[in-house]
Amino acid sequence: MSAKIVKREELAKDIFCYEVETPLIANKAKAGQFVILRIHQKGERIPLTIADFDREKGTITMVFQVLGKTTLLLSRLRENDHILNILGPQGNPSEIKDFGHVAVVGGGVGVAAIHPILKALKEKNNKITSIIGYRSKELVFWEDKIKAQSYEVLVYTNDGSYGKAGLVTDGLKDVISREKIDRVIAVGPLVMMDAVTKVTKEYNIPTIVSLNSLMVCGMGMCGACRVTINGKIKFTCMDGPEFNAFAVDFDELKKRLNSYKEEEKICYKKELEKC
Ligand code: FAD
Ligand code: MG
Repeated sequence: MSAKIVKREELAKDIFCYEVETPLIANKAKAGQFVILRIHQKGERIPLTIADFDREKGTITMVFQVLGKTTLLLSRLRENDHILNILGPQGNPSEIKDFGHVAVVGGGVGVAAIHPILKALKEKNNKITSIIGYRSKELVFWEDKIKAQSYEVLVYTNDGSYGKAGLVTDGLKDVISREKIDRVIAVGPLVMMDAVTKVTKEYNIPTIVSLNSLMVCGMGMCGACRVTINGKIKFTCMDGPEFNAFAVDFDELKKRLNSYKEEEKICYKKELEKC
């Protein structure tokens, strides 16, 4: 199914927000799910998280960062252009109930991914502390949308150019030291989710992470997104994307994510040289 881009916004340098018309996906979407899309006939399939959805308008919103060839091509589309194929909603929805006080951690584009999770948690009356982190001030986006769903928001930048200087783990340690936290949910770069897990393990706080493994089919057939969970092979697309953080083999996942780095760099460079 193709999908028209009805709104295109550059939220920050190389970070784009697209609202696309796709009523069937919008109708079924739940927090924690993603789509798989393809831009042209010979293009690769890439997964992007559903960062928001509007069932009445029949639209979903995705936020992506330009990292390589496909996200670069995607960023070149304009309002009223169509995304060739969009498949979803894929993956299991987040587990949502009244957990009590939940600390939700988002890093970089992961801030967009936590947005629907916050909305759903809020509907179930959770007290939410959001801890969001960016590399620097120029990359800050959606602070207002995160604030609207949270009891409290802590903003961190690595270089201290906005909010507090430091890492989201500093904020998490701060919150844990002063309040009882019943659950932690973290979405962002793997190193961040790994670091969050190391903190919460110390305090034995149940922790959920959303894994961003390499993914191709998104339907449990190709095996590209396999991860090791409690020593067993699981597929991020069908068994996840959210997993119990304490069971994830982060070191293996980090290695697998870098499998095609050289080829990816070459493709990106070639695409940039075309313009
Ligand atoms: P490339 O140069 O091909 O790759 C750059 C890096 O992106 C790679 O080193 C690798 O780490 C990762 N990557 C490459 N291909 C894939 C792939 N097929 N699947 C997953 N990761 C890949 N990114 C966002 O910006 N916003 C999101 O909301 C988002 N949601 C995601 C949800 C899930 C369930 C998963 C698994 C990934 C998500 N990603 C998201 C990551 C996104 O899919 C990659 O950044 C994108 O595929 C990079 O494509 P590229 O060709 O531009 O870059
Ligand atoms: Mg790619």
